[in-house]
Amino acid sequence: MSVAIDLANLVAIALFIYGLHELNSPATARRGNRLAMAGMAIALAGILIQGHGAGWPAIALGIAIGGIVGIYAAVKVKMTAMPQMVALYNGAGGGAAALISTVEHYVAHGSAMNDVIAVSLVLSAIIGAVSFAGSIIAFLKLQEVMTGRPVTYPGQQVVNGAVLFCILGLAVWFVVTLGALPAWGYAALLLGALVLGVLFVLPIGGADMPVVISLLNSFTGVAVAITGFEIDSTLLIICGALVGASGTILTVAMSRAMNRPLTNVLFGAFGAQGGLEVAAAGGGPQQVRSTSADDVAVMLAYANKVIVVPGYGMAVAQAQHSVKALADQLEKRGVKVLYAIHPVAGRMPGHMNVLLAEANVPYNQLLDMEDANPEFPTADVALVIGANDVTNPAARNVPSSPIYGMPILDVDKAANVVVLKRSMRSGFAGIENPLYEMPNASMLFGDAKASVDALTAAVKAL
Ligand code: NDP
Repeated sequence: MSVAIDLANLVAIALFIYGLHELNSPATARRGNRLAMAGMAIALAGILIQGHGAGWPAIALGIAIGGIVGIYAAVKVKMTAMPQMVALYNGAGGGAAALISTVEHYVAHGSAMNDVIAVSLVLSAIIGAVSFAGSIIAFLKLQEVMTGRPVTYPGQQVVNGAVLFCILGLAVWFVVTLGALPAWGYAALLLGALVLGVLFVLPIGGADMPVVISLLNSFTGVAVAITGFEIDSTLLIICGALVGASGTILTVAMSRAMNRPLTNVLFGAFGAQGGLEVAAAGGGPQQVRSTSADDVAVMLAYANKVIVVPGYGMAVAQAQHSVKALADQLEKRGVKVLYAIHPVAGRMPGHMNVLLAEANVPYNQLLDMEDANPEFPTADVALVIGANDVTNPAARNVPSSPIYGMPILDVDKAANVVVLKRSMRSGFAGIENPLYEMPNASMLFGDAKASVDALTAAVKAL
């Protein structure tokens, strides 16, 4: 039986790895998810068959409750609320790792403790608890239950350092005594890790949360992998390592795409003052040209090539289906329609790809930034739908700009740029966008969905 279980685990692990690989492209991502789900089903079946005797009713109850909550949440959650849902799930993973360590400490390894187990127990308890508490704060910020602004106070890093120092002290005590520290010591260790998780995420702004969630996700992966050593599960070690590694890669990729070192995301309190106030005040005076749906429709209908540039505003307006309907109308008239996707457009990795895939936009029309930028100089219209920062030319030529150096979509190089947004308010970075004052740019003010629907109607009427 044990050979069969090992083989099943091997198949599950292969499916996880191949499934992850398939997430590389929107065209294969669905299949990747299905393969990983199949892997998870095989892994779970193996664990259940191994048998847990009297544990069966509890396991069945756990699966039933977790399954119902999971299906309900997945069906109900809005696409724009996906980051906070991921935060909650990630927190659950970290919390589970900390709980398993605690149970293992008090129940399973009470008598048979060695130094490897002691180090594993204490590390997965600390990392899991930090990830749990940090993820809950990330959830509360994104859900707007608490302020999304960075919460800062004088001496913050000193306080965080002191808490970390106390946790490390207790951890060393735990390992040196092979877990024989008093109950209050272990409780203080767990509590300290929870407090550290809260303190770590508080000074980070709501819009930077996706990066933080990705980092906490890698923490959870590491905690889970270490838990695998405690309970002697190769499956858990490999799964945890996969989560830890992919979370780390994603965190680095996101910081890079924003051209901000990870330390600036974590400790820079981006948006604490300055930028976001400009956003609230509606930005400074700018000389811009406002246009109408009818004028833009003529421009689009007689174009050869139109490049759609979606951003966070398209997600807020849920305009993806309207955008596809507009593209269909244009294509009927022989216009070539492409979509330029910036790696950090929206508020989570792959945000635009997911929305456009939901609207059945063909994958071969979606261009990554590197492929899209050479297309702009030959485009008749760049149609910017609720995107702002990712099109800001200041990133290219204003060294004092907070986003200077961030790679952007070169929409200003198109013959005409039409920007759909509601006002002159800024985007996430809280800065003005000189694009809007350029001679080839015009603004179509209004909710993105309403504007795109008006454009489609106007193109149809031509
Ligand atoms: P931005 O946040 O720069 O701009 C979005 C624009 O959409 C706003 O200026 C807003 O203007 C407009 N908007 C909002 N609602 C609507 C609506 N209903 N209809 C029409 N327009 C609307 O978005 P981008 O996608 O250009 O850039 C993403 C930003 O988020 C970058 O700065 C990136 O660094 C950051 N970020 C991205 C992450 C990711 O993983 N993708 C993670 C963390 C941060 P108005 O209010 O006038 O309508």
